[in-house]
Amino acid sequence: MSSLFPALTDPGAARRPALRFGERALTYGELAAAAGALAGRLGGAPGRVALWATPSLETAVAVVAALTAGVPVVPLNPKSGERELGHILADSAPSLLLVAPGDELPEAVRGLERVDVDVRGTGAYAPAEVDGESAALVVYTSGTTGPPKGALIPRRAVAATLDALADAWQWTADDVLVHGLPLFHVHGLVLGTVGPLRRGGSVRHLGRFGTDGVARELGDGATMLFGVPTMYHRIAEALPGDPELAKALGGARLLVSGSAALPVHDHERIAAATGRRVIERYGMTETLMNTSVRADGEPRAGTVGVPLPGVDLRLVEEDGTPIVAYDGETVGEIQVRGPNLFTGYLNRPDATAAAFTADGWFRTGDMAVREPDGYVRIVGRKATDLIKSGGYKIGAGEIENALLEHPGVREAAVTGEPDDDLGERIVAWVVPADPAARPGAEELADHVARRLAPHKRPRTVRYLDALPRNDMGKIMKRALGDA
Ligand code: ATP
Ligand code: MG
Repeated sequence: MSSLFPALTDPGAARRPALRFGERALTYGELAAAAGALAGRLGGAPGRVALWATPSLETAVAVVAALTAGVPVVPLNPKSGERELGHILADSAPSLLLVAPGDELPEAVRGLERVDVDVRGTGAYAPAEVDGESAALVVYTSGTTGPPKGALIPRRAVAATLDALADAWQWTADDVLVHGLPLFHVHGLVLGTVGPLRRGGSVRHLGRFGTDGVARELGDGATMLFGVPTMYHRIAEALPGDPELAKALGGARLLVSGSAALPVHDHERIAAATGRRVIERYGMTETLMNTSVRADGEPRAGTVGVPLPGVDLRLVEEDGTPIVAYDGETVGEIQVRGPNLFTGYLNRPDATAAAFTADGWFRTGDMAVREPDGYVRIVGRKATDLIKSGGYKIGAGEIENALLEHPGVREAAVTGEPDDDLGERIVAWVVPADPAARPGAEELADHVARRLAPHKRPRTVRYLDALPRNDMGKIMKRALGDA
């Protein structure tokens, strides 16, 4: 397969900016030299290599080097606990660990041979000839619904998904991305780091996400922002008091959200204050990106747009029958096929087999409806967000969106609990905007019933100080019971 990074072998691109993390930056020429040197060292590494994926120049250089050498790389979350790190290391058995010089490592990874990444290294850049089906990355899922599984992501999928996004987003070498995400998941690593470098554009990483950094970079020539919904929530909260931020966002070419559903309330508040609508895309570790609102399409709140070029997407009933007429109401599980898919879970033939249908469709576990014009609207996950109550199938997402529109609600999550009468009862978990003046259960239930339908009323409301979230800001519904 040809190189993932044409700009790294293009002499005309050598002086162009490639990466910037805080004060430290590399041009394409410098990146080629540093990645070339490290790729030379990695070329002989047996098996997989692990990467201590801090948000740093070193992490970006290391991933480019591994992709260049054709050595599968396993990004580790430096914030993981010992137990999770132990699980991932035992499962993936890396031969060495790529680290930024000076990084302190916890006990769990100290047994591995450590290789310091030199971002000022100088070597010839010579991409290895690599089979497109071989694993480029082993990325562990977020662990939202169970222990993380290692997805084997082939090089072919990385190229396919990034090129499909380039088409959907009109993403070019002129784009400058503002990046504030961690680098150990697909969003921050594949889309946010490998993506701009494949296009020949550049990345400016904020180190730590903050609305001040977003305003500064978008105000200074950056064109796109990738974020998770918790970031857009912070932006929505900050906008009323920050005209600089509103102006910077208003001037951006593309604001993209993913990894979890963007609440409609936040989408609308950002649109009202900036004149720009956030575009949502939907993907998974296993499939990379499946759908997106297109840059040349109509952005709509609460939808993840249309299938990307090359992706086959269908909704199926519980018994596996495809839903053929899209009416915007019938809920089915999303199944996908295409060059963007992973090849399987590491060491989990059982889970791999269970994830595919006999005819090769991947079962996402996500439930959605489709509008007659093809837009996909996710209603939630099959395992945690679909509530069967009083003969209805109710998606948690729309109730969460309704609750978030109540001025007294800061955060909301909806689950189902067993109920003798209804089968399942709708339970709302609410973080009040002001704990001293929290809205009553009856008031919240009426608020939902008025907006949606009487059978969507929460029967129980539980108040919390914060919702349990993982490092990507995803709500961990399985932890709500013990919150
Ligand atoms: P695990 O598989 O370990 O339980 P996870 O599914 O959260 O964790 P990821 O692969 O990081 O791990 O996340 C993919 C999931 O994120 C999708 O299946 C979907 O539920 C959710 N998701 C991603 N983008 C969106 C979006 N735009 N809207 C709604 N949900 C989204
Ligand atoms: Mg998952």
